[in-house]
Amino acid sequence: MAKIMAVNAGSSSLKFKLYEMPEEKVLCSGNAERIGHEDAIFGIKWNGQSEKTILPILDHAKAVELVVNAMIEKGIVSSMDEIKGVGHRVVQGGKYFSKSELFNKDTEDKIESLIPLAPLHNKAHLVGFRAFKKILPNVINVAVFDTAFHQTMEPEDYVFPIPYEYTTKYDCRRYGAHGTSHKYLSEVGLNYLKGVKHPKIISCHIGSGASITAIKDGKCVATSMGLTPLGGIMMGTRTGDLDPSVMNYLCKCTGKSVEEMYQIFNKQSGFLGVSGVSNDSRDVLAAVDEGNEQAILSNKLFIRRIADFIGQYYVRLGGADLIIFSAGIGENSPRTRKEVVDEIKDALGVEIDEEKNKDLRGQEALISTENSKIKVVVIPTDEEVMIARDTYSYYIK
Ligand code: AMP
Repeated sequence: MAKIMAVNAGSSSLKFKLYEMPEEKVLCSGNAERIGHEDAIFGIKWNGQSEKTILPILDHAKAVELVVNAMIEKGIVSSMDEIKGVGHRVVQGGKYFSKSELFNKDTEDKIESLIPLAPLHNKAHLVGFRAFKKILPNVINVAVFDTAFHQTMEPEDYVFPIPYEYTTKYDCRRYGAHGTSHKYLSEVGLNYLKGVKHPKIISCHIGSGASITAIKDGKCVATSMGLTPLGGIMMGTRTGDLDPSVMNYLCKCTGKSVEEMYQIFNKQSGFLGVSGVSNDSRDVLAAVDEGNEQAILSNKLFIRRIADFIGQYYVRLGGADLIIFSAGIGENSPRTRKEVVDEIKDALGVEIDEEKNKDLRGQEALISTENSKIKVVVIPTDEEVMIARDTYSYYIK
């Protein structure tokens, strides 16, 4: 038995979950928010209890100290020595990492060299790692990459049709994201495909960030996000795929710089941009019900982009055995799931059972009918447990 921590460090936040491994029992979880401020927030949940404190947390090292001290104070661990490993989510692993890797100088240098591809994220992950190393110097640290699962794509699926020199010299290509989630979903999804020879899965991680992945024999063959998480289907505030001329044209029309427009494509587009209501799909759906024209259009765009990718991946895989819905919208919105299936049902022979496609409250469920040509399931994703598993496997090596 070993206590393993899964960590997601952002530029001003640090989320954590402590597991007893290999049982995968969650001992506690929590979050430090507004790191760098006098009025930062530290929250922890354990054993059916929860606590939230407002206090100064000026850097990530202080946040880590708070996490470890809170665990000792609340009797979750009796000393720091009980924590045997820390797994860190890393957004961008570039071409270097096709699996999780122990943190060492080489790993650190590579993550650092990838900062231009994920400026906010990779920098924050390194800050988080260094903070843990300072407070828990004798513990193994493992980097778990969002891009690793997608490294099995073939060049036809990841090379962009730009001058080839840019691909080789600047490593400008599709890397995808949400890989840890898609890997988890495909592993759970295989339980529904016992006896299927070469299982083909289309996994839809649809939350405020959203991506779709085509998986054959447990390996990613194609994914919708691109060089960065801006690509693919429309999202809460991101455009998804666009004709590249849109950037040039709109910069000329508005007088905005490329950087300003890039921020707009990332933070003010998608549901928020088209609906003018919100980036939150619940607000958008409420506005749809009130007859708001832009909200109606934004929802139609969203559904159609998802259906387009499912169709594309059906062809890419040579068919499909399973479609998975997951993440905030995929897990919680029966209406969105139905609207997506309505778009693809005539072409693919998919049928949803209205009875089974209900509010599942975080439960996994098969929601297709017996006659459906492709099984459809809802699987709550769990990236943290994947981080804990990979970290534990390094610990016992
Ligand atoms: P995530 O990024 O996976 O946390 O997902 C966040 C998204 O899930 C937001 O757009 C939420 O509006 C959406 N969401 C959460 N619960 C529901 C729900 N019951 N119905 C529709 N969307 C939901």
